[in-house]
Amino acid sequence: MASQYIRDYFGKRETTDKAIQSTNNNNGEPDMKTKALRVPRILSVANQKGGVGKTTTSVNLATALSAIGQKVLLVDLDPQGNAGTGLGIKRAGLRTSTYDVIFEDAGVEETVQKTKVPGLDVLPSSIHLSGAEIELVSARRREYRLEQALRKPMDYDYVIIDCPPSLSLLTLNALVASDSIVVPLQCEFYALEGLSHLVKTIERVQKTFNPRLDIHGVVLTMFDKRNNLSEAVANDVRKYFGDKVYQTVIPRNVRLSEAPSYGLPAIVYDMRCPGARAYISLAKEVLKREKKLTGNNQLLSSNNNQVA
Ligand code: ADP
Ligand code: MG
Repeated sequence: MASQYIRDYFGKRETTDKAIQSTNNNNGEPDMKTKALRVPRILSVANQKGGVGKTTTSVNLATALSAIGQKVLLVDLDPQGNAGTGLGIKRAGLRTSTYDVIFEDAGVEETVQKTKVPGLDVLPSSIHLSGAEIELVSARRREYRLEQALRKPMDYDYVIIDCPPSLSLLTLNALVASDSIVVPLQCEFYALEGLSHLVKTIERVQKTFNPRLDIHGVVLTMFDKRNNLSEAVANDVRKYFGDKVYQTVIPRNVRLSEAPSYGLPAIVYDMRCPGARAYISLAKEVLKREKKLTGNNQLLSSNNNQVA
């Protein structure tokens, strides 16, 4: 029901549905001969600080993108698994997880879980991921595990990776796999602390492993307009990052923190709350930048990565 509201709200799903129908066979099933798969754009939501809004941003940005008509895979790379549970995935029943995908014991296709949001799937995490750090140290091509699993033609337009709160080998895998990084920054006194470390890490990954990597944008989270500090931090961040900072600012909004306990993204739980509206606006801004970066962001459009 709630997702119907989202579709009505955006009113754009129809165009996408038509595009999909045009590639269906007579039974209405996807015709694999004509259905074009392409390598999705991969965005990581990263900041080594905990509690800055990575998971909230990953879940709601992914939901908003799929509501706009994009097919999205949300990869939960945090052993805590908050992105999956926030989308109603029960960890107990899972046979495989991101951990198995990283260690090539399972494929993405067999591990993916559908969510209640049309067009949004999740690659769920498991507690095993907390041991992955140590296991990866001695693994072959240890920085490229996630890239190998995700950078291939799939039925998704976007992969969003929810990173753990560290600059560990798991996060490194996400950065190596990604086209671009979305950095959430909490509007609080220590917001910029540690940020130079993140920026240096991104530069190092760019030089050593992944030349296409860039910062997609910085999103200010938990903004409290009654608190002068929020405004001061926002100004500082804009001075430091210039127009890399998205115009959209995510307000502090209790609905955003309530929604995960119902296993729903805030955009579905209460799409009219200020937090949900902000994430919808962020998704539009992300797509606008995407258009500039890629020259094209339409579903089923042709590009160099297309395969029959
Ligand atoms: P991270 O993934 O970076 O650790 P989370 O997204 O889990 O951060 O957010 C940390 C906590 O803050 C969670 O309890 C979340 O519900 C809450 N939270 C995140 N963004 C907001 C917001 N804009 N307003 C209110 N609470 C928020
Ligand atoms: Mg998190």
